[in-house]
Amino acid sequence: MSAREKYVPVIGIECHVELKTATKMFCGCPNEFGGEPNTKVCPVCLGMPGALPVPNAAAIEHMIAAGLAFGADIPAFSKFDRKNYFYPDMPKDYQISQYDMPLTQGGEVRYWLDDGTIKSCRLTRIHLEEDTGKSTHAGSGDGRIAGSAYSLIDFNRAGVPLMECVSEPEIHSAQDAVAYLEALRRTLLALGVSDVKMEEGSLRCDANVSVRLADAKELGTKTEIKNMNSFRSVGRAIESEIERQIALLESGGRVVQETRGWDEANGVSVSMRSKEEAHDYRYFPDPDLVPLEISREDVERIRGTLGELPWQRYERYTAEYGIGPKPATQLLDNLSLARYFDRIVAISANPQQSANFVLGDLSRLANENGIAIADSKVSPEHLAELIALVEAKTINSKIAKELLARMWEGAGSPKALVEGEGLAQTSDPAAIEGFVDDVLAANPGVVADYRAGKTNVGGFLVGQVMKASRGKADPALVNALLARKLQG
Ligand SMILES: [Zn+2]
Repeated sequence: MSAREKYVPVIGIECHVELKTATKMFCGCPNEFGGEPNTKVCPVCLGMPGALPVPNAAAIEHMIAAGLAFGADIPAFSKFDRKNYFYPDMPKDYQISQYDMPLTQGGEVRYWLDDGTIKSCRLTRIHLEEDTGKSTHAGSGDGRIAGSAYSLIDFNRAGVPLMECVSEPEIHSAQDAVAYLEALRRTLLALGVSDVKMEEGSLRCDANVSVRLADAKELGTKTEIKNMNSFRSVGRAIESEIERQIALLESGGRVVQETRGWDEANGVSVSMRSKEEAHDYRYFPDPDLVPLEISREDVERIRGTLGELPWQRYERYTAEYGIGPKPATQLLDNLSLARYFDRIVAISANPQQSANFVLGDLSRLANENGIAIADSKVSPEHLAELIALVEAKTINSKIAKELLARMWEGAGSPKALVEGEGLAQTSDPAAIEGFVDDVLAANPGVVADYRAGKTNVGGFLVGQVMKASRGKADPALVNALLARKLQG
């Protein structure tokens, strides 16, 4: 047994997600990414003495929607607390957060792996807080402050509504952690509660990682990994930490509880601070904010707006439609594409062919032209018509491809094109036999080669017959007839 097989990794994920609202959490400043530093600020989000916060109802509704989507409990009573700490990017020296009575409790994230295995990870809680400002640490030498290092602070982000989503330590591989994050991300995106863009910082995540011997009951000492800037780097960072901890334990060392920062360029994590420096945040209820009472009517109203969730769609596509895990995921990861696909299936009642067309030729055309499929000139009704023509063997796949390219240019109904231009497939054996005989007669050398054992020239002959039929011959029939005549 390898060292790796002796241990079970135990992973918990904490995600911070900026909520998509018009204004910040407790003031009327715009909640927008970017802009000139310190232009989206007011006395409330700058923490001026005497300024009073007012909660943003839209952010609270987003929280309830997310909680319901993950099957969490929405307690009737919740409150905001002050988390006290001194840090330069926190203008008030405390952050408004939620301590012991968060807006949602429990729930689970259902996720799936590339091979289609469906798993779930329970959530401890999702709570609501405000984001901090952003500091940029700069060195000396650019002449701003002679000879000294300094930090620049931008408070535009201070006070943006922030959801913190904490998972139970129930994930056991880097691959599962990434699949969990993907499921979380696509759910929040589908709900419209966040942009969940890691590159803009509207989704940030930390991983708690420990390892224990396979037969041990107690958890090992955990470390917290920070600074991952993509799902890929989350996977790499977790994998690297699992290996580091196992190597440490195997060589007789012990894991120290600490926070480690991931260095993407070098593929290693480095110690940032040990547990001894942990803060006592002295939480207490925020006296400026009244507790939140969440009515059951509001909860049910919000539940009614959730729509079909990504994991429900995934189960429909795979279990009901028989589409593979990968194409199903490809479809639902693009919500407008998934809706377009659903409309085709509703008409064609042929999910597999619909998925083939949408993810195959149609996606290729969309990529080549830089236009989303849902915005293209190919309507779901016309694509369903095309699928019906292929299914009925009225046209072969070659003609279908050509028609689709013309539909992309705005040619309209494929049925009308087939009827108007006589494109229907020739399945009449006598007609095809005529084409075959002509081609064999015109290519005696190739026929002789074939009969002498060079069977790879058969493809050329099939191509010639198809050409003679102007692409309309039924390819299966062409193959059968050619084979028979060449044998004979
Ligand atoms: Zn403000």
